[in-house]
Amino acid sequence: MIIAIDGPAGSGKSTVARYIADKLGFLYVNSGRVYRTVTFLCLEKDLSISEEAIFKSIPWNEISIHRDYIAVNLQQLSDELHHQRIDKLVPRISSFPMIRKAVNNIIVNTSKNENVVAEGRDMTTVVFPDADIKVYLDASIESRAMRRFNQGISDQTFEEIYKAIEERDQVDQKKAVGALRRSTDALYLDTSGLTIEQVCEKVIKSIQG
Ligand code: C5P
Repeated sequence: MIIAIDGPAGSGKSTVARYIADKLGFLYVNSGRVYRTVTFLCLEKDLSISEEAIFKSIPWNEISIHRDYIAVNLQQLSDELHHQRIDKLVPRISSFPMIRKAVNNIIVNTSKNENVVAEGRDMTTVVFPDADIKVYLDASIESRAMRRFNQGISDQTFEEIYKAIEERDQVDQKKAVGALRRSTDALYLDTSGLTIEQVCEKVIKSIQG
């Protein structure tokens, strides 16, 4: 079974997806983390930011998805994926079609052996268009920035996070490939005035029919 959840940065999709995955005993798949991992490796290996160079140099077969982290061989990556330098570069790297294809392969292969809750930008539209459940979570920039600030994993101030989210939204929306789109058959929820618990409750209700 596949539950696909999309939405912009800070819409609550990671928390909601993880909660639902835990509740149902499914694997939680955070696709943004895979793009962040690729970006992290580009910076670590000091690669030139060209689609071919990145595609050739990333050890795709060594990347595996886990609930709380991404593993690249024996290296476990989680908090370091949320540094500002990665936030800035990830929209560019995730706009390369060859990179998207490679990332999507990893995600689809992961879902072959397990029930998953997959979240990101194109889970409901491109990666799992036939998902059993599709959800699109939305929220105002203000409440999204506040949530990310309260997570305490960013090294930025609230104002910096607000501006970064605004900028990243624009880049993400303008992407020729991998742009965030709202699937017409997805349950649409504006989470701005809701607590994460209320959002989870609504999504669980829709899953239970
Ligand atoms: O979800 P998160 O904000 O961590 O994602 C980081 C970045 O990865 C996004 O800004 C977007 O550029 C990219 N991304 C993507 N497609 C996805 C998930 C994330 O292009 N499915």
